[in-house]
Amino acid sequence: MSPDNTTGPTREEAEAAVETLIRWAGDDPSRQGLIDTPRRVARAYESFFSGYEEDPVQLLSQTFDEIDDYDEMVLLRDIRLESHCEHHMVPFIGVAHVAYLPRHKVVGISKLARVVDAYSRRLQIQEKLTSQIATAVNDVLEPKGVGVVIEASHQCMTTRGVHKPGVSMVTSHMLGRFRSDPSTRREFLALIGHPTVAGM
Ligand SMILES: [Zn+2]
Repeated sequence: MSPDNTTGPTREEAEAAVETLIRWAGDDPSRQGLIDTPRRVARAYESFFSGYEEDPVQLLSQTFDEIDDYDEMVLLRDIRLESHCEHHMVPFIGVAHVAYLPRHKVVGISKLARVVDAYSRRLQIQEKLTSQIATAVNDVLEPKGVGVVIEASHQCMTTRGVHKPGVSMVTSHMLGRFRSDPSTRREFLALIGHPTVAGM
């Protein structure tokens, strides 16, 4: 979506597409309240989908080796998550919990949150988002294990289709000790307040 992206559509084409969708919805894109809407939507898309411009592996690459003998779980919980479902292009919003057991490297905690953002600000499905975050942390930090749990409410379910507000979806991806060692997994789930996440 960068202006110098010569292979992608231009901003004018994006704005024209929004205008078409306004007409498709049954309204008049030339009326006062809507006249600037295509421009605003294109700008909103730059923010919603800025994750395509980010390399999560790069974000994690500045690690710290001086961890002495710290070998307990590192957990960042309740990371606000805003993404868009790739089936309907409407938001799903919730929280992510990311934990790992360091082997010889740790990373600044804000970097974990930025990895969540980098993958969230794309067209996603929650299952894939969960495993992408876990895999990036696992690949870069080479920890003894990684656990990621995401709980989110999908507007494609709450505001259309079956109209079921209040429903949230929980997904998890466990690697290494989080997968093989029930006590590590239990500790993680207890710390995030979900001792009974389904299937664990
Ligand atoms: Zn959807």
